[in-house]
Amino acid sequence: MTSVFPHKKAKALKPTSRRPAKELCSECGLCDTYYIHYVKEACAFLNQQIHELEEQTHTRSRNLDNPDELYFGVHQDMMAARKKEPIPGAQWTGIVSTIAIEMLNRNLVEGVVCVQNTKEDRFQPMPIIARTPEEILAARVNKPTLSPNLSVLEQIEKSGMKRLLVIGVGCQIQALRAVEKQLGLEKLYVLGTPCVDNVTRAGLQKFLETTSRSPNTVVHYEFMQDFRVHFKHEDGSIETVPFFGLKTNKLKDVFAPSCMSCFDYVNSLADLVVGYMGAPFGWQWITVRNDTGREMLELVKDWLETQPVMTSGDRKAAVQQSIPAYDKAVTIPIWAAKLMGVIIEKIGPKGLEYARFSIDSHFTRNYLYVKRNHPEKLEAHVPEFAKRIVNQYKLPKS
Ligand code: FAD
Ligand code: SF4
Repeated sequence: MTSVFPHKKAKALKPTSRRPAKELCSECGLCDTYYIHYVKEACAFLNQQIHELEEQTHTRSRNLDNPDELYFGVHQDMMAARKKEPIPGAQWTGIVSTIAIEMLNRNLVEGVVCVQNTKEDRFQPMPIIARTPEEILAARVNKPTLSPNLSVLEQIEKSGMKRLLVIGVGCQIQALRAVEKQLGLEKLYVLGTPCVDNVTRAGLQKFLETTSRSPNTVVHYEFMQDFRVHFKHEDGSIETVPFFGLKTNKLKDVFAPSCMSCFDYVNSLADLVVGYMGAPFGWQWITVRNDTGREMLELVKDWLETQPVMTSGDRKAAVQQSIPAYDKAVTIPIWAAKLMGVIIEKIGPKGLEYARFSIDSHFTRNYLYVKRNHPEKLEAHVPEFAKRIVNQYKLPKS
């Protein structure tokens, strides 16, 4: 007899076993559970299905002829926002943690999937299902490493929870949406962040050691809209390093192969997305994708200062120049990098145009990566919207 939940007969993989997506695995956590039963359809790196999952989630896929949807996915609204009273120690102003806490306090959900860090290592991810505001607060700030957020999925079914919020990045959310109907939930809320250039824990160490003056005291870092990496240290000091001064030759293989093959930078399948790159410096960037996302944002509106999204500058020449520079792993002297940073900050792309700059640079790089390393996957793995974005640029022939 076939079971209603055939996945319950499947067995999670051992932590040391090779994942079905092999080197492209982003360690999203699905294969750490019996939902591995669905891996062939659900894995973002084995079966790219953003178009179909957009229809399932938002009732329609993005309109490729609408320039904002082409880039930022299905949405009802976008804005810049910041908390009037930021949460100390959050990645930005803590909008994500605030929404999650409010959803729990108002009993909209019984639990929140989020990621804390281990006691020993502030950057080692430890996914949990939070059931108290304190547990959500303890998950604030990015763990800039691949994180198996979905590894807690079996606990949901076992706990009998019916209303759940999941916080996660694009690859985790793609797999989650693919198994959503199997979770036995009455309501699933998804709060996403954009994500790019993630690394394994070992890769993170290499990045910090190659780039920061004091790798062991970094508590937080971000690639900011002023074209610099900002490192925050334990003593509260901020160190900035211009993008153009990064030691590209040493860092070329630091990013995870999954992230070099990802085209879901903006987390297309979340209900609400909170990032920063489409907003002015110091502000967060909010994309409301559907009615569920609107409901989540409404809960915290009174604690936010907001302003409309803006856009200025022209990214195209800078993106075109970045393609061969990255390819040849060019590193320029630090004085020239600083100078370029100052000039580009003054005249360069801002707001949504900065977000397009970042999307274009990463999609062109990732397209070349897939073409060279997994040519057999190129056609099916790259979504149509990404092909249109990449086609705006001249790429090296091989
Ligand atoms: P907080 O209130 O500090 O909460 C952060 C939340 O992130 C926590 O709930 C935690 O559970 C979750 N989280 C932390 N690490 C991970 C992880 N590895 N995987 C899944 N969930 C995690 N925004 C952009 O606009 N452009 C980018 O290029 C970009 N890159 C990012 C890369 C990574 C790896 C991550 C995790 C986020 C990235 N973001 C990016 C989002 C941005 O940095 C902030 O996370 C977002 O604006 C929320 O800030 P906050 O202060 O509201 O979050
Ligand atoms: Fe499994 Fe997720 Fe890795 Fe795909 S990315 S192989 S679903 S753990």
